[in-house]
Amino acid sequence: MNLNNNFISELPADPIVGNTRRQVKNACFSYVTPKKTSKPKLIHVSEDFAKDLGISKDDLQSKEFLNIMTGNQVLNNTTPYAMCYGGHQFGNWAGQLGDGRAINLFDVEHDKKQWTIQLKGAGETPYSRQGDGLAVLRSSVREYLCSEAMHHLGVPTTRALSLSLSGDDVMRDILYDGNRANEKGAIVSRVSPSFLRFGNYEIFAARGDHKTLKTLVDYTIKHHFKHLGQPSKDTYIVFFKEVMERTLDMIIHWQRIGFVHGVMNTDNMSILGLTIDYGPYGWLEGFDFGWTPNTTDAQNKRYRYANQPNIGLWNLYQLANTLYSLIEDSEPLEEILENYKNRFESKSLVMMKSKLGLFEIDKNDLKLVQDLEDILQATETDMTIFFRNLSLFKKDNSVEGLRLIEYAFYKPSQVNGSVKTEWETWFANYHKRLQKERLSDNNRKAKMNSVNPKYVLRNYMAQLAIDDANNGNYDLIDELFKLLKEPYSEQPENEKWFVKRPEWARHKVGCSMLSCSS
Ligand code: AMP
Ligand code: MG
Repeated sequence: MNLNNNFISELPADPIVGNTRRQVKNACFSYVTPKKTSKPKLIHVSEDFAKDLGISKDDLQSKEFLNIMTGNQVLNNTTPYAMCYGGHQFGNWAGQLGDGRAINLFDVEHDKKQWTIQLKGAGETPYSRQGDGLAVLRSSVREYLCSEAMHHLGVPTTRALSLSLSGDDVMRDILYDGNRANEKGAIVSRVSPSFLRFGNYEIFAARGDHKTLKTLVDYTIKHHFKHLGQPSKDTYIVFFKEVMERTLDMIIHWQRIGFVHGVMNTDNMSILGLTIDYGPYGWLEGFDFGWTPNTTDAQNKRYRYANQPNIGLWNLYQLANTLYSLIEDSEPLEEILENYKNRFESKSLVMMKSKLGLFEIDKNDLKLVQDLEDILQATETDMTIFFRNLSLFKKDNSVEGLRLIEYAFYKPSQVNGSVKTEWETWFANYHKRLQKERLSDNNRKAKMNSVNPKYVLRNYMAQLAIDDANNGNYDLIDELFKLLKEPYSEQPENEKWFVKRPEWARHKVGCSMLSCSS
């Protein structure tokens, strides 16, 4: 492997070494040592992705790989570190947070791409606050499967390379109700071109440390936004513009596939516009703008599906406030933020139209989309199944629309009377609108199927894999991992996963809503 360590060689380090909890000033990271574990065991590896990193099949089977990916061995000439960041959590400035249980091992360069390898759950750091620096198996399975699933769905995301057991128990109170219990500890190795978050920059602005802020922004531009040129006030503005666009694009992808992140705090917003930190995330089953998977958010629903675009903008405001201290001119930043709203509206409409197979322009398209959203919401309709089956609609109306999609209804008996009429009206309008399209039924279907996945990591599917894994059986992790590599393809042998959420999962812990306990 071709290793390098730009982050630690070019940025200021915390002079103190060791895991004592502390406020780390004027530094971007602290050196830390991963915790040794009692019985490390590899559960799953992303073999294809390993190849992209220059790691061979033999390497993956080596004792060294297991030991490095569980924190039991530090590769020669590398110095693991935890990053310092702050963040706005649920709308409030939370001060210093930092990598409380993430440890960056080293950077790898392969095929002209640069990657940072990080362990999640490998022990305490100066940023662990009250936490133990560890992670449990359930949340690690969810992070491992979902990051790779998102990648194959075409959504910008951090990646996952391996999932291991530490061999040690971890104490957690899943429901925050005083019932603590031991769970199996696990470690995921995550990989990304960079793990920098909005919060990495915010912390310096909050502390008035403009010097370190500038050093970090310049570093980011030099290594991750090279095409923008030499750092300057003008470059900072286009840098912000690009972060805005990447963030927006990422969120539009989330809306397209029905992914709800659950904790869009600014410390969970990647500066590269990647989906990062898979915690209490979830997938829409019944299409519901108001749904949030996060129990901590159940009251205010700040991070509900419909609000993700607004929160993206709110988070960008915080980043703009931070960058303002380097730019000292609010106007260009405000203009970019203003632009977000317009861009969102136009891109979102194009995205929704693509889900409907509409590529020509019609002044009533927005209304057609909104009418559909209203009625989807009113009838508890499975989002994934609805859009997938809609591609079977024929331009000549030879198959009744409702019949094609009725399988998506959670309560089919409720679709009668005025609701049924609304659906029929919508299909009549859709049929009429389709006459404007030039694509054949088959070509339209192929295009729709490339944006409407057939298979997503439904909340109950992940939970089934977790239940098995807790019993020492990892077959389902492998089965889902393979299934989700081709989410847009028909996989006749896997039709059993193209189903609505079973009723037993409606209110089951882990299958409907999740706490932040992980
Ligand atoms: P999250 O909500 O997972 O994005 O985490 C918010 C902050 O809490 C981050 O700074 C994490 O590093 C930290 N954190 C979460 N869980 C733990 C843990 N078990 N031990 C130490 N720090 C943690
Ligand atoms: Mg986080």
